[in-house]
Amino acid sequence: HPLKLLEFDIVLDFGKTCRLCGEKVERLFYHCFLCDITLCRLCPSIPLVIDDVPKKVHEHSLTQVMIKVSFTCDACGICSDGFPCVCLPCCFIIHRDCTKLPRVIHVNRHDHRVSHTYSLCIGDWGCGVCRKGIDRVYGAYSCSICRYAVHSKCATRTDVWDGVELEDIPEDENEDIDPYEVISEGVIRHFLHEHDLRLIIEKDGNVSYCYACTLPIYCDPCYACMECRFVLHEACAKLRKKLRHELQSHQLILCLNPRPGQAFKDGYFSCDACHRRCTGFCYKYKRIELDIRCAQVSKTFNHGSHPHPLFSISTAFKKCTGCGRSDKPVMSCIECVFDLCFYCATLPVEARHKYDCHPLSLCYGENAKGLYWCEICERELNPKEWFYTCNDYGSTLHVNCVLGDYLHVRPGHSFKYNDNEVEVVANDHPTRPSCSLHSREWRCVHPFVFKRKNRIDWRKTPIFDLSTVIGVTELNARKGSFIVVFVLDSPNISKLHF
Ligand SMILES: [Zn+2]
Ligand SMILES: [Zn+2]
Ligand SMILES: [Zn+2]
Ligand SMILES: [Zn+2]
Ligand SMILES: [Zn+2]
Ligand SMILES: [Zn+2]
Ligand SMILES: [Zn+2]
Ligand SMILES: [Zn+2]
Repeated sequence: HPLKLLEFDIVLDFGKTCRLCGEKVERLFYHCFLCDITLCRLCPSIPLVIDDVPKKVHEHSLTQVMIKVSFTCDACGICSDGFPCVCLPCCFIIHRDCTKLPRVIHVNRHDHRVSHTYSLCIGDWGCGVCRKGIDRVYGAYSCSICRYAVHSKCATRTDVWDGVELEDIPEDENEDIDPYEVISEGVIRHFLHEHDLRLIIEKDGNVSYCYACTLPIYCDPCYACMECRFVLHEACAKLRKKLRHELQSHQLILCLNPRPGQAFKDGYFSCDACHRRCTGFCYKYKRIELDIRCAQVSKTFNHGSHPHPLFSISTAFKKCTGCGRSDKPVMSCIECVFDLCFYCATLPVEARHKYDCHPLSLCYGENAKGLYWCEICERELNPKEWFYTCNDYGSTLHVNCVLGDYLHVRPGHSFKYNDNEVEVVANDHPTRPSCSLHSREWRCVHPFVFKRKNRIDWRKTPIFDLSTVIGVTELNARKGSFIVVFVLDSPNISKLHF
Protein backbone atom coordinates (compact mmCIF):
# COMPACT_ATOMS: atom_id res chain seq x y z
CA HIS A 1 0.00 0.00 0.00
CA PRO A 2 1.12 3.57 -0.46
CA LEU A 3 2.69 5.21 2.58
CA LYS A 4 1.64 8.71 3.52
CA LEU A 5 4.09 11.24 4.93
CA LEU A 6 2.58 12.71 8.11
CA GLU A 7 3.58 15.38 10.57
CA PHE A 8 3.99 14.21 14.16
CA ASP A 9 1.06 15.10 16.43
CA ILE A 10 1.88 14.94 20.12
CA VAL A 11 -1.65 13.72 21.02
CA LEU A 12 -2.45 11.34 18.15
CA ASP A 13 0.99 9.94 17.49
CA PHE A 14 2.53 9.82 20.94
CA GLY A 15 4.38 6.54 21.52
CA LYS A 16 4.24 5.38 17.88
CA THR A 17 7.36 3.45 16.98
CA CYS A 18 8.94 2.61 13.66
CA ARG A 19 8.21 -0.91 12.52
CA LEU A 20 11.71 -1.34 11.15
CA CYS A 21 14.10 0.22 13.59
CA GLY A 22 11.87 0.29 16.68
CA GLU A 23 12.69 3.95 17.40
CA LYS A 24 9.98 6.41 18.47
CA VAL A 25 8.89 8.55 15.50
CA GLU A 26 9.20 12.32 15.60
CA ARG A 27 8.52 15.31 13.31
CA LEU A 28 7.89 13.61 9.91
CA PHE A 29 7.05 9.93 9.47
CA TYR A 30 5.32 7.51 7.06
CA HIS A 31 2.07 5.76 7.78
CA CYS A 32 -0.11 3.18 6.01
CA PHE A 33 -3.74 3.69 7.06
CA LEU A 34 -4.89 0.30 5.76
CA CYS A 35 -2.43 -1.79 7.84
CA ASP A 36 -1.73 0.80 10.56
CA ILE A 37 2.00 0.56 9.90
CA THR A 38 4.31 3.37 10.98
CA LEU A 39 7.80 3.91 9.60
CA CYS A 40 10.24 6.66 10.49
CA ARG A 41 11.29 8.98 7.68
CA LEU A 42 14.63 7.32 6.97
CA CYS A 43 13.73 3.64 7.27
CA PRO A 44 11.83 3.11 3.95
CA SER A 45 15.07 3.90 2.13
CA ILE A 46 16.87 1.12 4.02
CA PRO A 47 16.62 -2.05 1.92
CA LEU A 48 14.71 -4.97 3.41
CA VAL A 49 17.09 -7.42 1.82
CA ILE A 50 20.60 -7.23 3.24
CA ASP A 51 22.98 -8.55 0.58
CA ASP A 52 26.24 -7.51 2.15
CA VAL A 53 25.96 -9.48 5.40
CA PRO A 54 29.49 -10.09 6.67
CA LYS A 55 30.38 -13.76 6.15
CA LYS A 56 30.97 -14.22 9.85
CA VAL A 57 27.44 -13.04 10.65
CA HIS A 58 25.76 -15.30 8.09
CA GLU A 59 26.86 -16.73 4.74
CA HIS A 60 23.62 -15.83 2.88
CA SER A 61 21.72 -12.61 2.41
CA LEU A 62 19.06 -11.79 5.01
CA THR A 63 15.56 -10.40 4.59
CA GLN A 64 13.76 -8.29 7.14
CA VAL A 65 10.19 -9.52 7.72
CA MET A 66 7.40 -6.97 7.92
CA ILE A 67 5.10 -9.08 10.06
CA LYS A 68 5.45 -8.75 13.80
CA VAL A 69 6.70 -12.05 15.22
CA SER A 70 7.88 -13.44 18.54
CA PHE A 71 11.36 -14.85 18.09
CA THR A 72 14.61 -15.64 19.85
CA CYS A 73 17.59 -14.01 18.18
CA ASP A 74 20.30 -16.47 17.14
CA ALA A 75 23.01 -13.89 17.79
CA CYS A 76 22.06 -12.57 21.23
CA GLY A 77 19.64 -15.19 22.59
CA ILE A 78 17.09 -12.55 23.60
CA CYS A 79 13.44 -13.37 23.03
CA SER A 80 11.46 -10.42 21.70
CA ASP A 81 8.53 -9.29 19.54
CA GLY A 82 9.53 -7.43 16.42
CA PHE A 83 10.63 -7.48 12.82
CA PRO A 84 13.69 -9.69 12.60
CA CYS A 85 15.97 -10.43 9.68
CA VAL A 86 15.74 -14.03 8.51
CA CYS A 87 17.35 -16.55 6.22
CA LEU A 88 14.55 -19.06 5.62
CA PRO A 89 16.60 -21.97 4.14
CA CYS A 90 18.81 -21.97 7.24
CA CYS A 91 16.08 -21.15 9.79
CA PHE A 92 18.38 -18.30 10.85
CA ILE A 93 16.73 -15.39 12.65
CA ILE A 94 18.44 -12.30 14.02
CA HIS A 95 17.70 -8.75 15.23
CA ARG A 96 18.65 -6.24 12.56
CA ASP A 97 20.89 -4.56 15.16
CA CYS A 98 22.58 -7.83 16.00
CA THR A 99 23.96 -8.14 12.45
CA LYS A 100 26.33 -5.35 13.54
CA LEU A 101 27.63 -7.02 16.72
CA PRO A 102 31.43 -6.77 16.89
CA ARG A 103 33.29 -10.04 16.27
CA VAL A 104 36.28 -9.77 18.63
CA ILE A 105 36.45 -7.48 21.67
CA HIS A 106 37.97 -6.95 25.09
CA VAL A 107 35.57 -6.82 28.05
CA ASN A 108 36.80 -5.15 31.23
CA ARG A 109 36.18 -8.26 33.36
CA HIS A 110 38.52 -10.57 31.51
CA ASP A 111 42.20 -10.51 30.62
CA HIS A 112 41.87 -12.28 27.25
CA ARG A 113 39.97 -11.25 24.15
CA VAL A 114 36.49 -12.72 23.61
CA SER A 115 34.90 -13.43 20.25
CA HIS A 116 31.31 -13.85 19.11
CA THR A 117 30.10 -17.37 18.49
CA TYR A 118 26.66 -18.79 17.61
CA SER A 119 26.85 -21.60 20.15
CA LEU A 120 28.95 -22.56 23.13
CA CYS A 121 30.26 -26.06 23.71
CA ILE A 122 28.35 -28.52 25.89
CA GLY A 123 27.99 -27.73 29.56
CA ASP A 124 26.50 -25.10 31.85
CA TRP A 125 27.54 -21.55 31.14
CA GLY A 126 27.20 -18.44 33.30
CA CYS A 127 27.65 -14.92 32.03
CA GLY A 128 30.87 -13.27 33.26
CA VAL A 129 29.08 -9.93 33.56
CA CYS A 130 25.54 -10.48 34.88
CA ARG A 131 26.21 -13.97 36.33
CA LYS A 132 22.95 -15.33 34.93
CA GLY A 133 22.90 -18.50 32.87
CA ILE A 134 23.64 -18.51 29.13
CA ASP A 135 21.59 -20.76 26.84
CA ARG A 136 24.45 -22.33 24.93
CA VAL A 137 22.51 -22.85 21.67
CA TYR A 138 22.33 -19.08 21.08
CA GLY A 139 25.04 -16.57 20.35
CA ALA A 140 27.40 -15.23 23.01
CA TYR A 141 31.01 -14.09 23.39
CA SER A 142 33.55 -16.65 24.52
CA CYS A 143 37.25 -16.80 25.29
CA SER A 144 39.42 -19.15 23.27
CA ILE A 145 42.05 -19.48 26.00
CA CYS A 146 39.95 -20.29 29.06
CA ARG A 147 36.38 -21.26 29.88
CA TYR A 148 34.70 -17.86 29.95
CA ALA A 149 31.58 -16.55 28.23
CA VAL A 150 29.41 -13.44 28.28
CA HIS A 151 25.92 -12.72 26.90
CA SER A 152 26.09 -10.75 23.65
CA LYS A 153 24.17 -7.84 25.13
CA CYS A 154 26.19 -7.84 28.37
CA ALA A 155 29.54 -7.87 26.53
CA THR A 156 28.65 -4.86 24.37
CA ARG A 157 27.36 -2.64 27.18
CA THR A 158 29.17 0.71 27.15
CA ASP A 159 30.42 0.21 30.70
CA VAL A 160 31.91 -3.18 29.77
CA TRP A 161 33.30 -2.74 26.25
CA ASP A 162 35.60 0.12 25.19
CA GLY A 163 33.98 0.21 21.74
CA VAL A 164 36.99 -1.14 19.84
CA GLU A 165 36.47 -3.99 17.34
CA LEU A 166 39.64 -6.08 17.41
CA GLU A 167 38.88 -8.51 14.59
CA ASP A 168 41.52 -7.21 12.20
CA ILE A 169 43.95 -6.09 14.87
CA PRO A 170 46.51 -8.82 15.57
CA GLU A 171 47.02 -9.62 19.22
CA ASP A 172 50.31 -8.27 20.51
CA GLU A 173 51.88 -11.44 21.89
CA ASN A 174 54.60 -9.63 23.80
CA GLU A 175 52.49 -6.71 24.92
CA ASP A 176 54.56 -4.80 27.41
CA ILE A 177 52.86 -5.44 30.74
CA ASP A 178 55.91 -6.35 32.83
CA PRO A 179 56.57 -3.48 35.22
CA TYR A 180 60.32 -4.02 35.42
CA GLU A 181 63.31 -5.47 33.63
CA VAL A 182 65.85 -7.60 35.44
CA ILE A 183 69.30 -5.99 35.36
CA SER A 184 71.16 -8.69 37.26
CA GLU A 185 70.30 -11.16 40.00
CA GLY A 186 68.20 -9.33 42.60
CA VAL A 187 68.50 -6.00 40.75
CA ILE A 188 65.67 -4.54 38.68
CA ARG A 189 64.79 -1.34 36.84
CA HIS A 190 61.14 -0.45 37.50
CA PHE A 191 59.36 1.56 34.81
CA LEU A 192 58.21 4.14 37.38
CA HIS A 193 61.63 4.87 38.87
CA GLU A 194 64.80 6.24 37.32
CA HIS A 195 67.30 4.26 39.45
CA ASP A 196 68.00 0.54 39.86
CA LEU A 197 66.35 -1.28 42.76
CA ARG A 198 67.90 -4.11 44.77
CA LEU A 199 66.00 -6.91 46.53
CA ILE A 200 66.68 -6.76 50.28
CA ILE A 201 65.01 -7.84 53.51
CA GLU A 202 64.40 -4.88 55.77
CA LYS A 203 66.03 -5.29 59.18
CA ASP A 204 63.85 -5.40 62.27
CA GLY A 205 63.19 -1.99 63.75
CA ASN A 206 63.86 -0.16 60.52
CA VAL A 207 60.42 0.68 59.14
CA SER A 208 60.13 2.19 55.71
CA TYR A 209 56.98 2.75 53.70
CA CYS A 210 56.22 1.31 50.30
CA TYR A 211 55.82 3.95 47.55
CA ALA A 212 53.17 1.83 45.80
CA CYS A 213 50.79 0.76 48.58
CA THR A 214 52.00 3.33 51.21
CA LEU A 215 51.98 0.65 53.94
CA PRO A 216 54.95 -0.14 56.17
CA ILE A 217 57.55 -2.69 55.18
CA TYR A 218 58.57 -4.69 58.23
CA CYS A 219 60.61 -7.81 57.66
CA ASP A 220 59.16 -8.38 54.20
CA PRO A 221 61.37 -8.68 51.13
CA CYS A 222 61.41 -5.39 49.27
CA TYR A 223 63.10 -3.64 46.37
CA ALA A 224 65.03 -0.64 47.67
CA CYS A 225 66.60 2.03 45.49
CA MET A 226 70.38 2.03 45.47
CA GLU A 227 70.51 5.83 45.17
CA CYS A 228 67.48 7.31 46.93
CA ARG A 229 64.75 6.39 49.46
CA PHE A 230 62.36 4.83 46.94
CA VAL A 231 61.27 1.37 48.10
CA LEU A 232 58.59 -1.15 47.10
CA HIS A 233 57.29 -4.37 48.64
CA GLU A 234 58.43 -7.26 46.47
CA ALA A 235 54.76 -7.95 45.71
CA CYS A 236 54.06 -4.30 44.90
CA ALA A 237 56.99 -4.19 42.45
CA LYS A 238 55.20 -6.91 40.47
CA LEU A 239 51.96 -4.96 39.99
CA ARG A 240 50.94 -5.14 36.34
CA LYS A 241 51.56 -2.10 34.18
CA LYS A 242 48.05 -2.33 32.75
CA LEU A 243 44.87 -3.69 34.22
CA ARG A 244 41.19 -4.07 33.40
CA HIS A 245 38.61 -3.14 35.99
CA GLU A 246 34.83 -3.18 36.15
CA LEU A 247 34.66 0.52 36.95
CA GLN A 248 36.10 1.53 33.58
CA SER A 249 35.60 0.05 30.12
CA HIS A 250 39.12 1.10 29.05
CA GLN A 251 42.35 -0.40 30.28
CA LEU A 252 43.90 1.36 33.30
CA ILE A 253 47.61 2.23 33.38
CA LEU A 254 49.78 2.13 36.50
CA CYS A 255 51.14 5.59 37.36
CA LEU A 256 53.39 7.16 39.94
CA ASN A 257 50.97 9.70 41.23
CA PRO A 258 51.56 12.18 42.65
CA ARG A 259 55.21 13.11 43.05
CA PRO A 260 56.39 14.35 46.47
CA GLY A 261 56.94 18.05 47.02
CA GLN A 262 53.93 19.29 45.05
CA ALA A 263 51.41 21.88 46.14
CA PHE A 264 49.08 20.52 48.78
CA LYS A 265 46.07 20.09 46.50
CA ASP A 266 48.14 18.27 43.86
CA GLY A 267 50.01 16.19 46.40
CA TYR A 268 47.55 13.31 46.58
CA PHE A 269 44.69 11.77 44.62
CA SER A 270 41.32 10.51 45.81
CA CYS A 271 40.56 6.93 44.88
CA ASP A 272 37.36 6.78 42.83
CA ALA A 273 36.30 3.53 44.52
CA CYS A 274 37.04 3.93 48.26
CA HIS A 275 37.37 7.76 48.22
CA ARG A 276 40.47 7.63 50.44
CA ARG A 277 43.22 10.17 49.85
CA CYS A 278 46.26 8.38 48.62
CA THR A 279 49.85 9.20 47.71
CA GLY A 280 50.79 5.76 46.42
CA PHE A 281 50.70 4.29 42.92
CA CYS A 282 47.52 4.75 40.99
CA TYR A 283 45.75 2.91 38.17
CA LYS A 284 44.45 5.55 35.86
CA TYR A 285 42.46 6.15 32.68
CA LYS A 286 41.60 9.77 31.98
CA ARG A 287 39.78 11.00 35.09
CA ILE A 288 39.30 7.59 36.74
CA GLU A 289 41.94 6.93 39.42
CA LEU A 290 42.08 3.85 41.62
CA ASP A 291 44.52 3.02 44.37
CA ILE A 292 46.20 -0.35 43.95
CA ARG A 293 44.03 -2.10 46.55
CA CYS A 294 40.73 -1.12 44.96
CA ALA A 295 42.17 -1.93 41.54
CA GLN A 296 42.73 -5.52 42.70
CA VAL A 297 39.10 -5.83 43.80
CA SER A 298 37.57 -6.98 40.57
CA LYS A 299 35.69 -9.94 39.18
CA THR A 300 34.70 -12.43 41.85
CA PHE A 301 35.55 -11.25 45.32
CA ASN A 302 35.26 -13.32 48.48
CA HIS A 303 34.99 -11.30 51.64
CA GLY A 304 35.20 -12.71 55.15
CA SER A 305 32.07 -10.86 56.21
CA HIS A 306 29.78 -12.70 53.82
CA PRO A 307 29.27 -16.38 52.88
CA HIS A 308 28.59 -15.75 49.17
CA PRO A 309 31.04 -14.32 46.65
CA LEU A 310 30.43 -10.69 45.70
CA PHE A 311 30.41 -9.98 41.99
CA SER A 312 28.51 -7.18 40.58
CA ILE A 313 29.72 -3.66 41.04
CA SER A 314 26.87 -1.21 41.27
CA THR A 315 27.50 2.42 40.46
CA ALA A 316 24.23 3.51 42.08
CA PHE A 317 24.15 4.61 45.72
CA LYS A 318 23.51 1.69 48.08
CA LYS A 319 23.71 1.29 51.83
CA CYS A 320 26.90 -0.50 52.83
CA THR A 321 26.37 -3.39 55.25
CA GLY A 322 29.79 -2.75 56.80
CA CYS A 323 29.70 0.94 57.70
CA GLY A 324 26.00 1.70 57.20
CA ARG A 325 26.80 4.66 54.95
CA SER A 326 25.17 5.13 51.57
CA ASP A 327 27.94 5.00 48.99
CA LYS A 328 28.85 4.23 45.40
CA PRO A 329 30.31 2.19 43.86
CA VAL A 330 29.54 -0.90 45.94
CA MET A 331 30.17 -4.63 45.56
CA SER A 332 26.94 -6.62 45.69
CA CYS A 333 25.94 -10.20 46.31
CA ILE A 334 23.56 -11.57 43.72
CA GLU A 335 22.10 -14.19 46.05
CA CYS A 336 20.94 -11.93 48.85
CA VAL A 337 20.75 -8.29 49.85
CA PHE A 338 24.32 -7.50 50.79
CA ASP A 339 26.30 -4.50 49.58
CA LEU A 340 29.80 -3.52 50.58
CA CYS A 341 31.48 -0.21 49.84
CA PHE A 342 35.10 -0.27 48.65
CA TYR A 343 36.26 1.42 51.84
CA CYS A 344 34.95 -1.50 53.91
CA ALA A 345 35.90 -4.13 51.32
CA THR A 346 39.55 -3.04 51.51
CA LEU A 347 39.85 -2.70 55.30
CA PRO A 348 42.78 -4.79 56.53
CA VAL A 349 41.57 -7.90 58.37
CA GLU A 350 44.58 -7.64 60.64
CA ALA A 351 46.16 -4.45 61.92
CA ARG A 352 48.64 -3.30 64.52
CA HIS A 353 48.36 -0.21 66.65
CA LYS A 354 50.78 1.20 69.19
CA TYR A 355 47.96 1.00 71.72
CA ASP A 356 48.16 -2.79 71.81
CA CYS A 357 51.17 -5.04 71.33
CA HIS A 358 49.01 -7.83 69.88
CA PRO A 359 47.67 -7.87 66.35
CA LEU A 360 44.11 -6.60 66.08
CA SER A 361 41.61 -8.43 63.96
CA LEU A 362 38.63 -7.00 62.14
CA CYS A 363 35.31 -8.16 63.62
CA TYR A 364 32.23 -7.93 61.38
CA GLY A 365 29.84 -6.98 64.19
CA GLU A 366 28.45 -8.99 67.08
CA ASN A 367 24.95 -9.70 68.24
CA ALA A 368 25.60 -8.32 71.70
CA LYS A 369 23.32 -6.39 73.99
CA GLY A 370 24.45 -3.02 75.25
CA LEU A 371 27.39 -0.98 74.08
CA TYR A 372 31.12 -1.53 73.99
CA TRP A 373 33.80 1.08 74.61
CA CYS A 374 36.57 2.10 72.28
CA GLU A 375 39.86 2.02 74.17
CA ILE A 376 41.44 4.71 72.03
CA CYS A 377 38.86 7.49 72.02
CA GLU A 378 37.00 6.26 75.13
CA ARG A 379 33.66 6.70 73.44
CA GLU A 380 30.80 4.26 72.84
CA LEU A 381 31.15 1.58 70.21
CA ASN A 382 28.12 -0.12 68.67
CA PRO A 383 28.92 -3.87 68.64
CA LYS A 384 26.66 -4.41 65.63
CA GLU A 385 29.02 -2.34 63.49
CA TRP A 386 32.47 -3.45 62.39
CA PHE A 387 35.30 -2.90 64.87
CA TYR A 388 38.82 -4.09 65.64
CA THR A 389 39.38 -6.42 68.53
CA CYS A 390 42.35 -7.91 70.32
CA ASN A 391 41.78 -11.54 71.20
CA ASP A 392 44.25 -11.50 74.09
CA TYR A 393 42.83 -8.53 75.96
CA GLY A 394 39.32 -8.59 74.54
CA SER A 395 39.63 -4.90 73.82
CA THR A 396 37.43 -3.24 71.23
CA LEU A 397 38.39 -0.31 69.02
CA HIS A 398 36.64 1.81 66.40
CA VAL A 399 37.86 1.08 62.87
CA ASN A 400 38.58 4.73 62.31
CA CYS A 401 40.39 5.11 65.63
CA VAL A 402 42.82 2.38 64.56
CA LEU A 403 43.31 3.35 60.92
CA GLY A 404 42.42 7.01 60.72
CA ASP A 405 41.24 8.77 57.60
CA TYR A 406 44.64 9.02 55.97
CA LEU A 407 45.75 5.44 55.90
CA HIS A 408 47.14 5.78 52.40
CA VAL A 409 49.20 8.92 52.76
CA ARG A 410 52.75 7.63 52.96
CA PRO A 411 54.94 8.87 55.82
CA GLY A 412 57.93 10.46 54.14
CA HIS A 413 55.70 11.96 51.44
CA SER A 414 55.95 15.72 51.32
CA PHE A 415 53.91 18.69 50.18
CA LYS A 416 54.52 22.34 49.48
CA TYR A 417 52.82 24.40 52.13
CA ASN A 418 53.22 28.20 52.34
CA ASP A 419 56.51 28.05 50.43
CA ASN A 420 57.84 25.38 52.79
CA GLU A 421 58.19 21.72 52.07
CA VAL A 422 56.47 19.75 54.82
CA GLU A 423 56.81 16.04 55.39
CA VAL A 424 54.47 13.44 56.91
CA VAL A 425 56.15 11.90 59.98
CA ALA A 426 55.20 9.54 62.78
CA ASN A 427 54.04 11.28 65.94
CA ASP A 428 55.77 8.72 68.11
CA HIS A 429 57.30 10.90 70.81
CA PRO A 430 56.03 10.06 74.33
CA THR A 431 54.82 13.63 74.77
CA ARG A 432 52.25 14.80 72.30
CA PRO A 433 53.20 17.93 70.40
CA SER A 434 51.20 21.10 70.39
CA CYS A 435 50.24 22.15 66.95
CA SER A 436 51.79 25.43 65.92
CA LEU A 437 48.62 26.48 64.15
CA HIS A 438 46.41 25.84 67.15
CA SER A 439 46.41 27.02 70.73
CA ARG A 440 49.10 25.62 73.02
CA GLU A 441 46.53 23.50 74.83
CA TRP A 442 45.61 21.64 71.65
CA ARG A 443 47.70 18.48 71.57
CA CYS A 444 48.05 16.37 68.46
CA VAL A 445 46.70 12.95 69.37
CA HIS A 446 47.19 11.59 65.89
CA PRO A 447 50.26 9.48 65.31
CA PHE A 448 51.15 11.11 61.98
CA VAL A 449 51.72 14.81 61.64
CA PHE A 450 53.60 17.24 59.44
CA LYS A 451 57.03 18.57 60.07
CA ARG A 452 58.88 21.14 58.04
CA LYS A 453 61.38 19.30 55.96
CA ASN A 454 65.10 19.65 56.80
CA ARG A 455 64.49 21.90 59.82
CA ILE A 456 64.84 20.74 63.39
CA ASP A 457 64.63 23.89 65.49
CA TRP A 458 61.79 25.56 63.70
CA ARG A 459 59.55 27.61 66.03
CA LYS A 460 60.51 26.41 69.50
CA THR A 461 57.61 25.98 71.85
CA PRO A 462 58.54 26.59 75.47
CA ILE A 463 56.47 23.76 76.92
CA PHE A 464 57.28 20.82 74.71
CA ASP A 465 60.40 20.69 72.71
CA LEU A 466 58.67 19.17 69.71
CA SER A 467 58.87 22.29 67.71
CA THR A 468 59.22 20.64 64.37
CA VAL A 469 55.63 19.56 64.24
CA ILE A 470 53.10 21.65 62.50
CA GLY A 471 49.52 20.88 61.65
CA VAL A 472 48.28 21.85 58.26
CA THR A 473 44.82 23.29 58.24
CA GLU A 474 42.38 23.61 55.44
CA LEU A 475 39.49 26.02 55.45
CA ASN A 476 36.25 24.13 55.43
CA ALA A 477 34.20 26.74 53.63
CA ARG A 478 30.92 24.96 54.05
CA LYS A 479 31.06 24.82 57.81
CA GLY A 480 32.97 28.06 58.03
CA SER A 481 35.44 26.57 60.47
CA PHE A 482 38.93 25.12 60.38
CA ILE A 483 39.44 21.42 60.22
CA VAL A 484 42.74 19.69 60.56
CA VAL A 485 43.89 17.79 57.54
CA PHE A 486 46.45 15.07 57.88
CA VAL A 487 45.67 14.01 61.31
CA LEU A 488 46.81 10.48 60.77
CA ASP A 489 46.33 7.55 63.04
CA SER A 490 49.05 4.97 63.17
CA PRO A 491 48.23 2.29 60.65
CA ASN A 492 51.09 -0.09 61.34
CA ILE A 493 49.36 -2.61 59.20
CA SER A 494 51.23 -5.79 58.88
CA LYS A 495 48.94 -7.72 56.60
CA LEU A 496 46.42 -7.10 53.92
CA HIS A 497 44.31 -10.08 53.01
CA PHE A 498 41.98 -10.36 50.08
ZN1 LIG B 1 19.80 -10.17 18.75
ZN1 LIG C 1 21.22 -19.00 5.47
ZN1 LIG D 1 24.89 -11.46 30.96
ZN1 LIG E 1 53.63 -2.14 48.99
ZN1 LIG F 1 66.02 6.14 43.38
ZN1 LIG G 1 40.47 2.87 46.81
ZN1 LIG H 1 31.18 0.58 54.03
ZN1 LIG I 1 37.27 5.16 69.08
